[in-house]
Amino acid sequence: MERLKEEVIKLIEGLRDEIIELSDRIHKNPELGFEEHKACAWLTDVLSEHGFEVERGVAGLETAFRATFTGSREHPKVALLAEYDALPEIGHACGHNIIAASSVGAAIALSKLNLPGTVVVLGTPAEEGGGGKIIMIEQGAFKGIDAAMMIHPSDQNLVSKGSLAIKEIRMKFKGKLAHAAAKPEKGINALDAVIQAFNNINALRQHLTEDVRIHGIITHGGVKPNIVPDYAEAYFYVRALDENYLLEVLEKVKNCAKGAALAQGAKVEFEVGRGYRSHKLNHALVEAFKANLLALGVKPDRPPEHGGMGSSDIGDVSHVVPVIHPYISITEGELPSHSREFAEAACSEKGHQGLLIGAKALAMTAIDLYASSTLGRL
Ligand SMILES: [Zn+2]
Ligand SMILES: [Zn+2]
Repeated sequence: MERLKEEVIKLIEGLRDEIIELSDRIHKNPELGFEEHKACAWLTDVLSEHGFEVERGVAGLETAFRATFTGSREHPKVALLAEYDALPEIGHACGHNIIAASSVGAAIALSKLNLPGTVVVLGTPAEEGGGGKIIMIEQGAFKGIDAAMMIHPSDQNLVSKGSLAIKEIRMKFKGKLAHAAAKPEKGINALDAVIQAFNNINALRQHLTEDVRIHGIITHGGVKPNIVPDYAEAYFYVRALDENYLLEVLEKVKNCAKGAALAQGAKVEFEVGRGYRSHKLNHALVEAFKANLLALGVKPDRPPEHGGMGSSDIGDVSHVVPVIHPYISITEGELPSHSREFAEAACSEKGHQGLLIGAKALAMTAIDLYASSTLGRL
Protein backbone atom coordinates (compact mmCIF):
# COMPACT_ATOMS: atom_id res chain seq x y z
CA MET A 1 0.00 0.00 0.00
CA GLU A 2 2.83 2.40 0.88
CA ARG A 3 4.41 1.66 -2.50
CA LEU A 4 1.12 2.53 -4.24
CA LYS A 5 0.93 5.77 -2.29
CA GLU A 6 4.47 6.72 -3.32
CA GLU A 7 3.58 5.93 -6.90
CA VAL A 8 0.40 8.00 -6.84
CA ILE A 9 2.31 10.99 -5.41
CA LYS A 10 4.79 10.72 -8.30
CA LEU A 11 1.95 10.45 -10.81
CA ILE A 12 0.32 13.61 -9.43
CA GLU A 13 3.68 15.42 -9.61
CA GLY A 14 3.80 14.33 -13.25
CA LEU A 15 0.32 15.79 -13.81
CA ARG A 16 1.26 19.00 -12.02
CA ASP A 17 1.30 21.38 -15.04
CA GLU A 18 -1.83 19.88 -16.55
CA ILE A 19 -3.99 20.17 -13.42
CA ILE A 20 -2.71 23.61 -12.43
CA GLU A 21 -3.44 24.88 -15.94
CA LEU A 22 -6.93 23.35 -15.76
CA SER A 23 -7.59 24.95 -12.36
CA ASP A 24 -6.40 28.38 -13.51
CA ARG A 25 -8.40 28.17 -16.75
CA ILE A 26 -11.62 27.49 -14.79
CA HIS A 27 -10.64 30.30 -12.40
CA LYS A 28 -10.29 32.78 -15.28
CA ASN A 29 -13.68 31.78 -16.68
CA PRO A 30 -16.06 31.86 -13.70
CA GLU A 31 -19.52 30.44 -14.41
CA LEU A 32 -22.55 30.48 -12.12
CA GLY A 33 -24.32 27.34 -10.86
CA PHE A 34 -25.99 25.23 -13.59
CA GLU A 35 -24.26 27.38 -16.24
CA GLU A 36 -20.80 25.82 -15.89
CA HIS A 37 -20.65 24.70 -19.54
CA LYS A 38 -17.00 25.56 -20.18
CA ALA A 39 -15.73 24.00 -16.94
CA CYS A 40 -17.78 20.87 -17.55
CA ALA A 41 -16.43 20.53 -21.12
CA TRP A 42 -12.78 21.10 -20.10
CA LEU A 43 -12.91 18.66 -17.18
CA THR A 44 -14.61 15.91 -19.17
CA ASP A 45 -12.24 16.41 -22.12
CA VAL A 46 -9.20 15.87 -19.87
CA LEU A 47 -10.75 12.80 -18.25
CA SER A 48 -11.70 11.38 -21.63
CA GLU A 49 -8.14 11.92 -22.94
CA HIS A 50 -6.88 9.90 -19.97
CA GLY A 51 -9.14 6.96 -20.81
CA PHE A 52 -12.17 7.62 -18.62
CA GLU A 53 -15.60 6.73 -19.92
CA VAL A 54 -17.46 10.05 -19.81
CA GLU A 55 -21.21 10.70 -19.54
CA ARG A 56 -22.36 14.32 -19.71
CA GLY A 57 -25.79 15.66 -18.72
CA VAL A 58 -26.09 13.20 -15.82
CA ALA A 59 -29.23 13.40 -13.60
CA GLY A 60 -30.94 15.64 -16.12
CA LEU A 61 -28.45 18.44 -15.38
CA GLU A 62 -26.61 19.78 -18.43
CA THR A 63 -23.49 20.61 -16.43
CA ALA A 64 -23.29 17.45 -14.32
CA PHE A 65 -21.10 14.56 -15.45
CA ARG A 66 -19.83 11.13 -14.55
CA ALA A 67 -16.38 9.88 -15.63
CA THR A 68 -15.60 6.25 -14.85
CA PHE A 69 -12.40 4.20 -14.93
CA THR A 70 -12.89 0.55 -13.99
CA GLY A 71 -9.86 -1.34 -12.71
CA SER A 72 -9.60 -5.07 -12.19
CA ARG A 73 -12.84 -5.13 -10.11
CA GLU A 74 -16.00 -3.04 -10.02
CA HIS A 75 -15.91 -2.40 -6.25
CA PRO A 76 -14.84 -0.57 -4.18
CA LYS A 77 -16.20 2.26 -6.29
CA VAL A 78 -14.74 5.53 -5.03
CA ALA A 79 -16.19 8.84 -6.24
CA LEU A 80 -14.13 12.01 -6.35
CA LEU A 81 -16.48 14.98 -6.43
CA ALA A 82 -15.79 18.00 -8.60
CA GLU A 83 -17.48 21.34 -7.93
CA TYR A 84 -16.84 24.14 -10.43
CA ASP A 85 -19.46 26.85 -9.89
CA ALA A 86 -18.47 30.44 -9.11
CA LEU A 87 -20.15 33.29 -7.23
CA PRO A 88 -21.87 36.32 -8.77
CA GLU A 89 -19.53 39.35 -9.10
CA ILE A 90 -16.65 37.83 -7.11
CA GLY A 91 -15.89 34.84 -9.34
CA HIS A 92 -14.06 31.86 -7.84
CA ALA A 93 -14.06 33.33 -4.33
CA CYS A 94 -14.89 29.90 -2.90
CA GLY A 95 -12.07 28.28 -4.91
CA HIS A 96 -14.20 25.59 -6.57
CA ASN A 97 -11.72 25.55 -9.48
CA ILE A 98 -9.31 23.89 -7.00
CA ILE A 99 -11.95 21.36 -5.95
CA ALA A 100 -12.49 20.35 -9.58
CA ALA A 101 -8.79 20.15 -10.48
CA SER A 102 -7.76 18.26 -7.31
CA SER A 103 -10.45 15.60 -7.77
CA VAL A 104 -9.67 15.21 -11.47
CA GLY A 105 -5.90 15.05 -10.76
CA ALA A 106 -6.36 12.43 -8.03
CA ALA A 107 -8.68 10.35 -10.24
CA ILE A 108 -6.34 10.38 -13.26
CA ALA A 109 -3.37 9.35 -11.08
CA LEU A 110 -5.42 6.53 -9.49
CA SER A 111 -6.51 5.27 -12.91
CA LYS A 112 -2.84 4.57 -13.80
CA LEU A 113 -2.38 2.17 -10.85
CA ASN A 114 -4.31 -0.87 -12.04
CA LEU A 115 -6.45 -0.72 -8.91
CA PRO A 116 -8.76 -3.45 -7.64
CA GLY A 117 -11.77 -1.18 -7.92
CA THR A 118 -13.38 1.69 -9.83
CA VAL A 119 -12.63 5.38 -9.69
CA VAL A 120 -15.40 7.76 -10.64
CA VAL A 121 -15.37 11.53 -10.96
CA LEU A 122 -18.80 13.01 -10.39
CA GLY A 123 -19.15 16.56 -11.68
CA THR A 124 -21.59 18.17 -9.25
CA PRO A 125 -22.81 21.60 -10.38
CA ALA A 126 -24.25 24.52 -8.42
CA GLU A 127 -23.03 23.98 -4.87
CA GLU A 128 -23.54 27.69 -4.09
CA GLY A 129 -27.28 27.47 -3.43
CA GLY A 130 -28.42 25.27 -6.32
CA GLY A 131 -28.00 21.93 -4.55
CA GLY A 132 -26.73 20.05 -7.61
CA LYS A 133 -25.70 17.09 -5.47
CA ILE A 134 -29.21 16.75 -4.02
CA ILE A 135 -30.70 16.50 -7.51
CA MET A 136 -28.01 13.95 -8.38
CA ILE A 137 -28.84 11.89 -5.27
CA GLU A 138 -32.54 11.95 -6.20
CA GLN A 139 -31.74 10.87 -9.76
CA GLY A 140 -29.62 7.95 -8.55
CA ALA A 141 -26.19 9.31 -9.51
CA PHE A 142 -24.72 8.14 -6.17
CA LYS A 143 -26.11 4.57 -6.47
CA GLY A 144 -23.38 1.95 -6.24
CA ILE A 145 -20.80 4.45 -4.91
CA ASP A 146 -18.97 3.10 -1.84
CA ALA A 147 -17.45 6.39 -0.67
CA ALA A 148 -17.28 9.97 -1.93
CA MET A 149 -14.49 12.47 -1.37
CA MET A 150 -13.44 16.01 -2.16
CA ILE A 151 -11.34 18.72 -0.60
CA HIS A 152 -12.38 22.34 -0.17
CA PRO A 153 -9.89 25.24 -0.23
CA SER A 154 -9.74 27.29 2.94
CA ASP A 155 -7.41 29.44 5.05
CA GLN A 156 -6.73 26.45 7.33
CA ASN A 157 -6.12 22.71 7.09
CA LEU A 158 -9.17 21.19 8.80
CA VAL A 159 -9.96 17.51 8.49
CA SER A 160 -13.10 17.12 10.57
CA LYS A 161 -15.08 20.30 10.18
CA GLY A 162 -18.75 19.47 9.58
CA SER A 163 -21.45 21.70 8.17
CA LEU A 164 -24.74 23.10 9.41
CA ALA A 165 -28.17 22.11 8.17
CA ILE A 166 -29.77 25.05 6.41
CA LYS A 167 -33.22 26.22 5.31
CA GLU A 168 -33.86 29.30 3.24
CA ILE A 169 -37.02 31.29 3.67
CA ARG A 170 -38.50 34.16 1.68
CA MET A 171 -40.97 36.37 3.57
CA LYS A 172 -43.42 38.28 1.38
CA PHE A 173 -45.23 41.08 3.18
CA LYS A 174 -48.29 42.70 1.66
CA GLY A 175 -49.56 46.09 2.83
CA LYS A 176 -51.55 48.93 1.26
CA LEU A 177 -50.50 51.82 -0.97
CA ALA A 178 -51.10 55.42 0.07
CA HIS A 179 -49.48 58.86 -0.27
CA ALA A 180 -46.81 58.78 2.44
CA ALA A 181 -47.30 62.48 3.37
CA ALA A 182 -50.87 63.40 2.41
CA LYS A 183 -52.72 60.23 3.54
CA PRO A 184 -50.27 58.02 5.49
CA GLU A 185 -53.12 56.89 7.77
CA LYS A 186 -54.67 55.07 4.80
CA GLY A 187 -51.55 53.01 4.11
CA ILE A 188 -50.19 49.74 5.49
CA ASN A 189 -46.41 49.80 5.42
CA ALA A 190 -45.03 46.43 4.30
CA LEU A 191 -41.43 47.67 4.72
CA ASP A 192 -42.06 48.49 8.38
CA ALA A 193 -43.30 44.92 8.83
CA VAL A 194 -40.00 43.64 7.33
CA ILE A 195 -37.97 45.89 9.67
CA GLN A 196 -40.03 44.70 12.62
CA ALA A 197 -39.45 41.08 11.58
CA PHE A 198 -35.66 41.71 11.65
CA ASN A 199 -36.00 43.22 15.14
CA ASN A 200 -38.10 40.29 16.38
CA ILE A 201 -35.52 37.86 15.03
CA ASN A 202 -32.69 39.80 16.65
CA ALA A 203 -34.50 39.56 20.00
CA LEU A 204 -34.95 35.81 19.47
CA ARG A 205 -31.22 35.16 19.02
CA GLN A 206 -30.24 35.14 22.69
CA HIS A 207 -32.69 32.30 23.33
CA LEU A 208 -31.28 29.95 20.72
CA THR A 209 -28.38 27.52 21.00
CA GLU A 210 -24.96 28.88 19.99
CA ASP A 211 -24.69 26.88 16.78
CA VAL A 212 -27.72 28.62 15.23
CA ARG A 213 -27.11 31.17 12.50
CA ILE A 214 -29.87 33.42 11.14
CA HIS A 215 -28.96 36.00 8.53
CA GLY A 216 -31.15 37.87 6.13
CA ILE A 217 -31.34 40.61 3.54
CA ILE A 218 -34.16 42.84 2.30
CA THR A 219 -34.81 41.96 -1.32
CA HIS A 220 -37.66 44.43 -1.88
CA GLY A 221 -38.34 47.53 0.20
CA GLY A 222 -40.63 49.81 -1.78
CA VAL A 223 -40.18 52.02 -4.83
CA LYS A 224 -40.24 55.65 -3.68
CA PRO A 225 -40.23 57.37 -0.29
CA ASN A 226 -43.51 59.17 -0.98
CA ILE A 227 -45.38 55.91 -1.62
CA VAL A 228 -46.22 53.75 1.42
CA PRO A 229 -44.71 50.40 0.35
CA ASP A 230 -47.48 47.87 -0.24
CA TYR A 231 -44.97 45.10 -0.88
CA ALA A 232 -41.70 44.22 0.82
CA GLU A 233 -39.69 41.06 0.92
CA ALA A 234 -36.95 39.61 3.11
CA TYR A 235 -34.78 36.59 2.36
CA PHE A 236 -33.24 34.66 5.26
CA TYR A 237 -30.95 31.68 5.75
CA VAL A 238 -31.56 29.77 8.99
CA ARG A 239 -28.94 27.22 10.08
CA ALA A 240 -28.36 24.79 12.94
CA LEU A 241 -26.35 21.65 13.62
CA ASP A 242 -29.38 19.52 14.47
CA GLU A 243 -31.91 19.13 11.67
CA ASN A 244 -34.94 18.78 13.99
CA TYR A 245 -33.92 21.83 16.00
CA LEU A 246 -33.53 23.73 12.73
CA LEU A 247 -37.23 23.10 11.98
CA GLU A 248 -38.16 24.39 15.46
CA VAL A 249 -36.09 27.54 14.90
CA LEU A 250 -37.64 28.01 11.47
CA GLU A 251 -41.12 28.05 13.11
CA LYS A 252 -39.91 30.68 15.60
CA VAL A 253 -38.55 32.77 12.72
CA LYS A 254 -41.90 32.51 10.93
CA ASN A 255 -43.65 33.64 14.13
CA CYS A 256 -41.34 36.68 14.27
CA ALA A 257 -42.55 37.60 10.78
CA LYS A 258 -46.20 36.84 11.54
CA GLY A 259 -46.06 39.03 14.66
CA ALA A 260 -44.48 41.83 12.65
CA ALA A 261 -47.17 41.58 9.98
CA LEU A 262 -49.95 41.55 12.58
CA ALA A 263 -48.56 44.66 14.28
CA GLN A 264 -48.72 46.59 10.98
CA GLY A 265 -51.97 45.11 9.72
CA ALA A 266 -50.02 43.55 6.85
CA LYS A 267 -50.15 40.00 5.52
CA VAL A 268 -47.18 37.69 5.18
CA GLU A 269 -46.57 34.59 3.09
CA PHE A 270 -43.56 32.28 3.20
CA GLU A 271 -41.62 30.36 0.61
CA VAL A 272 -39.31 27.81 2.21
CA GLY A 273 -36.63 26.18 0.05
CA ARG A 274 -35.41 22.62 0.39
CA GLY A 275 -32.12 23.54 2.10
CA TYR A 276 -29.11 21.32 2.82
CA ARG A 277 -28.67 18.65 5.47
CA SER A 278 -25.94 18.79 8.11
CA HIS A 279 -22.70 16.89 7.48
CA LYS A 280 -22.53 13.44 9.06
CA LEU A 281 -18.82 12.92 9.70
CA ASN A 282 -17.23 9.57 8.88
CA HIS A 283 -14.50 9.25 11.48
CA ALA A 284 -12.67 6.32 9.86
CA LEU A 285 -12.27 8.26 6.62
CA VAL A 286 -11.35 11.45 8.48
CA GLU A 287 -8.58 9.61 10.35
CA ALA A 288 -7.28 8.05 7.12
CA PHE A 289 -7.17 11.44 5.40
CA LYS A 290 -5.47 13.00 8.43
CA ALA A 291 -2.73 10.33 8.42
CA ASN A 292 -2.13 10.91 4.70
CA LEU A 293 -1.95 14.67 5.18
CA LEU A 294 0.62 14.17 7.96
CA ALA A 295 2.61 11.83 5.70
CA LEU A 296 2.73 14.70 3.17
CA GLY A 297 4.19 16.95 5.87
CA VAL A 298 1.00 18.95 6.44
CA LYS A 299 -0.19 19.27 10.03
CA PRO A 300 -3.96 19.75 10.38
CA ASP A 301 -5.02 22.87 12.28
CA ARG A 302 -7.12 22.65 15.43
CA PRO A 303 -10.78 23.25 14.53
CA PRO A 304 -12.49 26.22 16.23
CA GLU A 305 -14.41 25.24 19.37
CA HIS A 306 -17.49 27.14 18.22
CA GLY A 307 -18.71 28.21 14.83
CA GLY A 308 -16.64 28.37 11.69
CA MET A 309 -19.13 26.22 9.79
CA GLY A 310 -21.13 26.88 6.67
CA SER A 311 -23.55 24.62 4.84
CA SER A 312 -23.15 22.52 1.72
CA ASP A 313 -24.99 19.94 -0.32
CA ILE A 314 -22.14 17.58 0.66
CA GLY A 315 -24.21 17.30 3.88
CA ASP A 316 -26.95 15.52 1.92
CA VAL A 317 -24.39 13.21 0.28
CA SER A 318 -23.01 12.30 3.75
CA HIS A 319 -26.38 10.73 4.64
CA VAL A 320 -26.27 8.52 1.53
CA VAL A 321 -22.63 7.35 1.32
CA PRO A 322 -19.54 7.76 3.55
CA VAL A 323 -17.98 11.12 2.73
CA ILE A 324 -14.96 13.26 3.47
CA HIS A 325 -14.86 16.99 2.81
CA PRO A 326 -11.65 18.24 4.47
CA TYR A 327 -10.37 21.80 4.09
CA ILE A 328 -6.92 22.56 2.67
CA SER A 329 -5.22 25.90 3.19
CA ILE A 330 -4.49 28.02 0.10
CA THR A 331 -3.66 31.26 1.93
CA GLU A 332 -0.72 32.74 3.82
CA GLY A 333 -2.83 33.70 6.83
CA GLU A 334 -6.41 34.14 7.95
CA LEU A 335 -8.60 35.04 4.99
CA PRO A 336 -12.34 34.47 4.73
CA SER A 337 -13.68 32.75 1.64
CA HIS A 338 -16.33 34.55 -0.44
CA SER A 339 -14.00 37.56 -0.57
CA ARG A 340 -12.07 39.04 -3.54
CA GLU A 341 -8.78 38.26 -1.76
CA PHE A 342 -9.74 34.60 -1.46
CA ALA A 343 -10.56 34.55 -5.18
CA GLU A 344 -6.97 35.74 -5.83
CA ALA A 345 -5.61 33.02 -3.54
CA ALA A 346 -7.47 30.41 -5.59
CA CYS A 347 -5.06 30.95 -8.51
CA SER A 348 -1.94 31.90 -6.51
CA GLU A 349 1.25 29.88 -5.90
CA LYS A 350 -0.14 28.90 -2.47
CA GLY A 351 -3.38 27.91 -4.20
CA HIS A 352 -1.45 25.65 -6.58
CA GLN A 353 0.35 24.06 -3.61
CA GLY A 354 -2.97 23.44 -1.87
CA LEU A 355 -4.35 21.92 -5.05
CA LEU A 356 -1.46 19.42 -5.28
CA ILE A 357 -1.59 18.54 -1.58
CA GLY A 358 -5.34 18.04 -1.84
CA ALA A 359 -5.03 15.82 -4.91
CA LYS A 360 -2.31 13.71 -3.28
CA ALA A 361 -4.12 13.29 0.05
CA LEU A 362 -7.35 12.37 -1.76
CA ALA A 363 -5.61 9.79 -3.94
CA MET A 364 -3.79 8.30 -0.92
CA THR A 365 -7.06 8.04 1.01
CA ALA A 366 -8.67 6.35 -1.99
CA ILE A 367 -5.82 3.80 -1.90
CA ASP A 368 -6.66 3.16 1.78
CA LEU A 369 -10.25 2.49 0.69
CA TYR A 370 -9.24 0.09 -2.11
CA ALA A 371 -7.04 -1.75 0.37
CA SER A 372 -9.62 -1.99 3.16
CA SER A 373 -12.92 -3.81 3.32
CA THR A 374 -14.21 -1.85 6.32
CA LEU A 375 -12.96 1.72 5.95
CA GLY A 376 -15.72 4.13 5.22
CA ARG A 377 -18.59 1.81 6.09
CA LEU A 378 -21.63 3.78 7.24
ZN1 LIG B 1 -18.92 28.97 -1.03
ZN1 LIG C 1 -17.41 26.28 -1.57
